[in-house]
Amino acid sequence: MPEVTSDKTAKLRELQRRFGAQLPQRLADIQHHWQACLVGDDNEELYRLVHSLAGAAGTFGFHRLGEQARALEQLLLRNKGSIKRCPELPVIEDVIADLLLFTVQQPDQLASADSEASFQEATGKERGESLVYLLEDDVSQAREAAVQLQYFGYEIKIFHRTAALKAAMAQEVPAALVADIHLSEGDQAGPDIVAELRDGLTRDVPVIFVSGSDSWQDRLAVVRAGGQAYLSKPINFSVLVEQLDVVTGNKQEAPYRILVVDDTPLLAQHYAAVLEAAGMRIKTVNDPAQLLDVLLMFSPDLILMDIFMPGCSGVEAAQVIRQQSIYANLPIVYLSTETSLTQQLAALQLGGGDDFLQKPISDTYLTDAVHIRAKRFRELSALMNQDGLTGLLNHINLKLALEREIAQAQRRSSALSFVMLDIDHFKSVNDSYGHLIGDRVIKSLARLLSHRLRKGDVAARYGGEEFALILPDTSLELAQGLLDDLRRQFSEISHAHEHGEFTVTFSAGIAACPPQAEMQALIAAADRALYQAKHAGRNQVVLDDDGTSVNTL
Ligand code: GH3
Ligand code: MG
Ligand code: MG
Repeated sequence: MPEVTSDKTAKLRELQRRFGAQLPQRLADIQHHWQACLVGDDNEELYRLVHSLAGAAGTFGFHRLGEQARALEQLLLRNKGSIKRCPELPVIEDVIADLLLFTVQQPDQLASADSEASFQEATGKERGESLVYLLEDDVSQAREAAVQLQYFGYEIKIFHRTAALKAAMAQEVPAALVADIHLSEGDQAGPDIVAELRDGLTRDVPVIFVSGSDSWQDRLAVVRAGGQAYLSKPINFSVLVEQLDVVTGNKQEAPYRILVVDDTPLLAQHYAAVLEAAGMRIKTVNDPAQLLDVLLMFSPDLILMDIFMPGCSGVEAAQVIRQQSIYANLPIVYLSTETSLTQQLAALQLGGGDDFLQKPISDTYLTDAVHIRAKRFRELSALMNQDGLTGLLNHINLKLALEREIAQAQRRSSALSFVMLDIDHFKSVNDSYGHLIGDRVIKSLARLLSHRLRKGDVAARYGGEEFALILPDTSLELAQGLLDDLRRQFSEISHAHEHGEFTVTFSAGIAACPPQAEMQALIAAADRALYQAKHAGRNQVVLDDDGTSVNTL
């Protein structure tokens, strides 16, 4: 192929890719304005968005999407002024649902494709990282999964039957496969087809299994079919996305953080150099008395601890660390010249350390030993630190994060805002629509929070329907603006129940550090402000003014 053509193809492909990358946002905007239309008046922005999508999609090779958007545009125009009550509402809803599903598709065709070959190349390669096949015989579950996963940038192809999956596999190998275990075709049809497919594949495809019955047999079948992970239904989508990110390599693991404690600076530096060369981040401490401060700021995934140090032995240092329950699971590995097994066991029995590595140690062995343990710790803490329903930080880890952020804000002399947020009259949501719908409302708020916050911000589920936010480098006034936006947005989201829709609001209290300098005082101040927001009628944000509160509606 001539140089010029392939250059042009590359550019087109890049434009297409960019348009594809914008699609989830465009569709989310459409969904947002659509919901606003259902509860409020017709909304010009919805027409504009749909119109613009109808024009652009075809240009970038998303022909089917373009056609659907065009159809929707016609429907909206035809019923302008009364969408909420128009007889075509069910049709419009269907078209919109299809449209939202569409984000998971790739362009049908490379924009003005130069040749068949370039098209193949474009679809074959670039799809690679985000294309996921879903084998699920339950139509509505499959649809729900596809809709949820598209928000996270995955494109899903649904297969209800194994034959169709098999045919597609022969055409194109996806980045991952999510497979139900029990299908109407057979009790173990999922694992069976995966085992069969594996034999015929040149490239290994990671498989995540899901099952409605959490049994030993199912789990064993997953292991035998070479499944990477197992999730029981109902699927927790934040966990599934997390797993997909890992198995498809979309998640760039942050480097492992290793704290090296050794009173001989040169030795410490040597270990640091070896582990750094393997891609880990290292901090060295020569004086155990600095340990607690460094632990807080660095938050390591593993401590490599020398045993013989003047002033305080490694075993004692490890015990001091373990006094704090937050470090109960942090791996501490002794690195020592101690060769006697009895002595080693004695040191381990004293509590503190988990393991012994013997000096001198080869670079490869050190790297592997540290890597394996740090990795396991990361996996374990991800499980323990996150709230199962929302994927946000849980209560304990919020406090850890808050302690760290306060310390950092004070060091940098910058302002930090802390927010407590509680859904209004949530009990009546449960009472009216059931606990499951209540859960969905909690999840939707969690998603809104994580979507809107900046990178350094922290969102946590504080308790049932209570959330907490840590906003570093944010003054009370800035935080107030942000929270008022969030409050408004949340109150506009329409939640579906069996016979219609409803909306929900939240109240929030915000406190800042400074003036609050202690974690407990900061939490109490935000809580006090939240209480006032509730007391003053809910659906509002109240600022703590060091004891006296200012209300903003
Ligand atoms: P207020 O406006 O004063 O906050 O009223 P409220 O009804 O929201 O507050 P209250 O604390 O009385 O009730 C909270 C309810 O939230 C009670 C509890 O059953 C429910 N809840 C807590 N956690 C969950 C959860 O994970 N899922 C669901 N569906 N409900 C939950
Ligand atoms: Mg509440
Ligand atoms: Mg409450």
